[in-house]
Amino acid sequence: MSEVRQALAALRLVDHHCHGVVTDDLDRDGFESLLTEGDRWPGVSAFDTPVGVSVRRHCAPLLGLDRHAPPEEYLARRAELGAPEVNRRFLEAAGTDTYCLDTGLGPTDLAAERVYEVVRLESVEEELAAGGVEPDAYAEAFRAAALQAVRRPGVVAVKSVAAYRTGFDLDPRRPSAAEVERAARERLAAGGRLRDPVLVRHLLWTAVDLGLPLQLHTGFGDNDIRLHRVDPARLTDWLHATAGTIPVLLLHCWPYQRQAGYLASVFEQVYLDVGLTLHHVGPVRARAVLEEALEITPFRKLLYSSDAYGLAEFYRLGALAFRRGLGELLQDRVAADEMSAHDAVRLAEWAGAHNARRVYHLPGAS
Ligand SMILES: [Zn+2]
Repeated sequence: MSEVRQALAALRLVDHHCHGVVTDDLDRDGFESLLTEGDRWPGVSAFDTPVGVSVRRHCAPLLGLDRHAPPEEYLARRAELGAPEVNRRFLEAAGTDTYCLDTGLGPTDLAAERVYEVVRLESVEEELAAGGVEPDAYAEAFRAAALQAVRRPGVVAVKSVAAYRTGFDLDPRRPSAAEVERAARERLAAGGRLRDPVLVRHLLWTAVDLGLPLQLHTGFGDNDIRLHRVDPARLTDWLHATAGTIPVLLLHCWPYQRQAGYLASVFEQVYLDVGLTLHHVGPVRARAVLEEALEITPFRKLLYSSDAYGLAEFYRLGALAFRRGLGELLQDRVAADEMSAHDAVRLAEWAGAHNARRVYHLPGAS
């Protein structure tokens, strides 16, 4: 094995964006619904997708099955071992040392030693709105609630899903107090999810005031998203307006990893990952996605994340796709004498662990 692939194989990863695992046993429907970002299609199996094939290829052996085991066999063996044992095996196989967990949606269980929390600001806002607040007190009450949430021990960052709510064609300016109050009046009367563009802007500017790194969902997501509105390049004016404040971490990015790389190369505060994409494209195409992400991204700006959600398989697959994709592309650059082995190993260790340690001020930062 080459030096760079060896270094990646030995590296304990920092997974800077992920969710918890389901700790109950899953039947076929439950498993397949977590295997896809989309709706289920009657009569069509979610196993018949790139990620489904990768699960059978790369996860089956960890359950003691042959590679490419059929779905029925895979699920039967999964049920026989039970969720706790299955989850333990995949988490161990991921070789991940530290997790930054989004606690704002879905399961939050993760039986790992070093787990830090990322506070989803829309959840804070929606809790506040549901609990009742006067429109003229909204701005300050949200700020206070967010501040209280980030003071919980272990919180290292905040996150926004503005991508889902309005997309990024937002007025980049901080809204005035009068604008926020007017918008809050309507939003509080209507209830439900935060979708008002003025209040989404208020949320993003509140994140700036909090001073912690901000994770932003961009690109790939379930069908609640309008993919054309979540190209991170649409954030350019807001990134100009917030230059010199907080680190902004663009999550997922696909198919806009090139746009994200451009932003990371021209804005000091911008970082990116290609999480979620890695397990959905599988080890076969992870290299291509990483290669595009790295065309222009400064080497201290790329981070690893799995964006695993629900299925422990995704921790394993994300880590495998990252190690293999990055390892192969760097090895080829070394072989072509475009990069020294020393530089390739540095890049791999930065992306896999140290860049995240540095941005979130985690122990062992360098
Ligand atoms: Zn996520």
